[in-house]
Amino acid sequence: MGSGARLSGLVALGLALMGRAFAQTPYAGPLFDAHLHYNDEACVHDTPSPGCPHPLTDVLARMQRNGVRAVLANSRPNAGTLALAGAREQTRAAGVTVVPFVRLYRNRADYSGWFADGTIAEMVQTELARGTPAGAYRGLGEFHLYDSANANGPVAKQLMALAEQKDLAILAHVDDVAIDLLMANTPSKGQKQLLIWAHTGISGAPVARVDELFARYPRLMGELSYRPGLTCDGGQLCPEWRALLLKYPERFMIGSDTWVNQRWLYYDELMQSYRAWLGGLPADVARRIAWNNGAQLFGFNQNAPATR
Ligand SMILES: [Zn+2]
Repeated sequence: MGSGARLSGLVALGLALMGRAFAQTPYAGPLFDAHLHYNDEACVHDTPSPGCPHPLTDVLARMQRNGVRAVLANSRPNAGTLALAGAREQTRAAGVTVVPFVRLYRNRADYSGWFADGTIAEMVQTELARGTPAGAYRGLGEFHLYDSANANGPVAKQLMALAEQKDLAILAHVDDVAIDLLMANTPSKGQKQLLIWAHTGISGAPVARVDELFARYPRLMGELSYRPGLTCDGGQLCPEWRALLLKYPERFMIGSDTWVNQRWLYYDELMQSYRAWLGGLPADVARRIAWNNGAQLFGFNQNAPATR
């Protein structure tokens, strides 16, 4: 190798390192955690240890130290959300806004039968009528459909119609087929319904299919936890996902999905991994996905401090 080649090789290496360093400057602004559970494995409130491994002080400290300034909260049973929503002084002190959703599950058994269980619809009505200390419930979910055909179950149909009528968002862990079925069960056929698609297709709906659904339903949003194929080398976005996020910067959000306590234990790492790939996006797009989209949907301060 001649000295010229060696020099250009060094320049190329230097540029590559610079590019890498630049791409990996993490996003430093506020985060909206759009998929948070505060389930009874994390805490059965008002019980002594070991009934509450993650008390309010612990989960709020995790949010605060990660710059999470708002959470879409739901829990199995709803007592966890009510505890979080009721801790007005503590959430204020931690700088966390709580956006409460009604979970459709009282226990694990409800995961597999809620869509045809009239007592779930009754529970939802009771919760909506009561509201929370942080204000009215803003949505329904998270719910799961392991078989998309159950989107046409009687209670699923009833709750989708109710959601649009009462302007409640939906948080749904479903496949792409169920998105169409659920939307068809709203009065506007999905043209008015806000639906946050948990994981944006956890079983890996192709990017082209996600794109098609986003084009069809103007208020379909994608929450990105557990999404297969999202990140590639160095924890940065894979090219086709980067392109999709740039195409729809107003339609994506990040979330923790603290469905088991291990997710609480790794909450810091989860948020750092989001900050890493957010930092690889243009600053305005990163800020939208990290914070503004959620703040805008639920109508509160989009101008949260730019830094942690
Ligand atoms: Zn979840």
